[in-house]
Amino acid sequence: MATVGVIGGGQLGRMLALAGIPLGLTFRFLDPAPDAAAGEVGELLVGPYDDPDLLDRLADGASAVTFEFENVPVGAARRVGALPGPAALEASQDRLAEKRLFRRLGIPTARFDDEVEAFPALLKTRWLGYDGKGQRLVETRPVGADDVLEELVPFERELSLLSVRGRGGETRFYPLVENMHRAGILHLSRTPAAAAPQAQAETYATRLLDELDYVGLLALELFEVGGELLANEFAPRVHNTGHWTIEGSITSQFENHLRAILGLPLGSTAACSRTAVMVNVIGHEPERDAILAVPGSHLHLYGKKERAGRKLGHVTLLDPTPTCVRKIERLVS
Ligand code: AMP
Repeated sequence: MATVGVIGGGQLGRMLALAGIPLGLTFRFLDPAPDAAAGEVGELLVGPYDDPDLLDRLADGASAVTFEFENVPVGAARRVGALPGPAALEASQDRLAEKRLFRRLGIPTARFDDEVEAFPALLKTRWLGYDGKGQRLVETRPVGADDVLEELVPFERELSLLSVRGRGGETRFYPLVENMHRAGILHLSRTPAAAAPQAQAETYATRLLDELDYVGLLALELFEVGGELLANEFAPRVHNTGHWTIEGSITSQFENHLRAILGLPLGSTAACSRTAVMVNVIGHEPERDAILAVPGSHLHLYGKKERAGRKLGHVTLLDPTPTCVRKIERLVS
């Protein structure tokens, strides 16, 4: 039996294990929280992410080690040879390095730093930003801040492309996803995004994956504006906008990430339905009965305690009617 080590024990780790257990894999997690969501589906080592002894225990006898969030200390990831690899981790932790990488690869982004002409503009913390945290509107150019200034993009849609690249470089893509946020947190994802520039997005993702010699699943977040795509950021891990793939694709993002890091053949990324919609459960637990009474609903709860703004679960619907989507949205908000 092969063991996979995962730095981080949140819901993404938990869903990796739920995908990997049927493949005969066992899981070991490292997380500072003794009640981490993944603790129910594998062995949980409790302690800091950069504790050398715990990292060694995590990697001991493991066939592969990965991480489920991008703010893992790079040194910790290096120590255990975690995939997708330190280059991807480093670039995704630093918004400035990330933007420069996009530009170097010919991937368009919003205007940033010296290029910014229009105000208000967004000032984003350079490090450790997520879910819209660490960003604010500013009316003038700040002086001397270690932040990234970014022009506001009047985008029509926010899209994401999930890609998976195997150890030998084979790459597969899922259909583009359209994402809607509320208060900076992902609320709803719908796929396939109607009339989406799939080929253009795949070209950009391929440049990134090849440059980073990437192994595993990568999520590229994009703005669509005037028919053009601008890259916002990428996540070197499985991603919330890919949760629909659990029921909505032949092979889920979680299973394909595991296949990639273990050097197994990648699975088909084809969709199982014409459309799929995923709605996040945020802040408080919904009524299970009411959700399950909506025809075709697939409920996933992560076993986390309620807290404002916290992702507690999600619901996926395949080929839903607009009425069913609205019902689910009402039930989870
Ligand atoms: P981020 O922290 O970069 O993922 O941004 C969180 C959210 O803020 C995005 O999903 C967008 O909705 C919004 N956002 C970020 N950057 C921009 C921008 N340059 N222009 C307009 N909206 C943005």
